Amino acid sequence: MSDTETIVIVGGGLAGAKAAEGAREAGWQGRIRLIGAEPYLPYERPPLTKGLLQGADGPRAAIVAGDGWATTHGVELLLSAPAESIDRGARTVRVAGEDLPYTRLVLATGSVAPRPDLPGADLDGVFVVRTLDDALALRDRLLPGVRVAVVGASWIGTEAAASARQRGAEVTLLGRGSVPLERVLGHEVGAFYAAVHEAHGVSLRLGPGIAAIEGEQNATGVRLDDGSLVEAEVVVLGTGVRPELGLAVAAGLDVGGSGPARGVLADERLATSDPDVFVAGDIANAMHPILGDRIRVEHWGNALNQGLTAGANAAGANRVFDLLPYFFSDQYDVGMEYSGWPGAFDEVVIRGSLDDGEFVAFQLRDAVVVGGANVNVWDVNEHVQDLVRAARPVRREALVDPGVDPADWVARALDAD
Ligand SMILES: Cc1cc2nc3c(=O)[nH]c(=O)nc-3n(C[C@H](O)[C@H](O)[C@H](O)COP(=O)(O)OP(=O)(O)OC[C@H]3O[C@@H](n4cnc5c(N)ncnc54)[C@H](O)[C@@H]3O)c2cc1C
Repeated sequence: MSDTETIVIVGGGLAGAKAAEGAREAGWQGRIRLIGAEPYLPYERPPLTKGLLQGADGPRAAIVAGDGWATTHGVELLLSAPAESIDRGARTVRVAGEDLPYTRLVLATGSVAPRPDLPGADLDGVFVVRTLDDALALRDRLLPGVRVAVVGASWIGTEAAASARQRGAEVTLLGRGSVPLERVLGHEVGAFYAAVHEAHGVSLRLGPGIAAIEGEQNATGVRLDDGSLVEAEVVVLGTGVRPELGLAVAAGLDVGGSGPARGVLADERLATSDPDVFVAGDIANAMHPILGDRIRVEHWGNALNQGLTAGANAAGANRVFDLLPYFFSDQYDVGMEYSGWPGAFDEVVIRGSLDDGEFVAFQLRDAVVVGGANVNVWDVNEHVQDLVRAARPVRREALVDPGVDPADWVARALDAD
């Protein structure tokens, strides 16, 4: 392989950094250029709503590719350098007016957090949390006694609420549904999270929609569509993200999937409709061989592992990506891992105690485990995954029996036939 052969990676997040590592681990001897729009070394985002927002960690805690990383992995970093376009015919990526040639290309442009179309969404004191800059700016405003309204009771919202509370802010959590995290975890586990937040002094106002953010120049509160006002100097919008598909669309790559699944279409090896272009992380809508469908996943574990696979395959490996979606969350002293991709579930079976805050919540559809969360219980998530992969009806008594070792769940809980 000549050193003029080049893998270009667009996107300096977790998936992009791991793609470089994956390519080197697979034996790529050529050049690797990593193009990042942000000014920072590649960093991961989970700390942005956790230790970084709490002030416990500085920005370095989020960096996945520290000072020596680029040298160790032979990566040429181009930072503060958004890729402008891709010419697949000429095999070049345009950056700062220059056309950089590639042999293979990995796209990992992630997501952006657009502000919702809501009156007042651009006022001073209104924040999204997507980038390091977002998180640092918000952290500076989270002072003891400051009133904070968090809009959105899913992961970003609940984690931001917990961290703001831990900094001594007065926090109100606003959202749809009757409990936080209901869509992902179901009512019972959502109610557990509601109780955890209330026990830490967060006020929950779930149900009403948001009519506007009020204020002249600075936010002063959030007007709900029932007419009430939640007064706040700081408003955090945890209202969802959108995959950054612009480059891929303009390059003529196949993009598809409806609604939230819309992403760059890829096969189970993360190759796009152009076999020399691979994709990883939030923007990939990739065929999942176990789930039998294309899925687009906005999870840390997905970015990490798809990055490694896409980079390796760009380097000439031929690896199938078949890991189940995996997610984690930390709020106060509650740690959680989740695996699965249920779409819908019709039953939640709890092993352990919601009251004690240590449990595994299995999500079942037609008696088959399709997902599961372990909360303050560790070293069991791989066994939840074993049950999901088995895709067979379970005996609930064995799942909840504390005498059954999780390593034996597959042997003891699956129906014999
Ligand atoms: C605050 C926060 C907390 C989270 N916490 C968790 C958690 O606890 N657990 C969990 O499982 N998941 C969590 N996630 C989700 C997880 O971080 C994402 O799924 C993951 O960051 C996706 O990685 P990525 O590399 O695909 O994209 P990103 O992390 O979005 O990185 C993409 C990068 O590409 C750059 N880029 C975009 N366009 C261009 C271009 N044209 N040229 C060059 N560069 C470009 C962007 O600037 C960005 O730096 C969290 C996300 C956020 C925002």
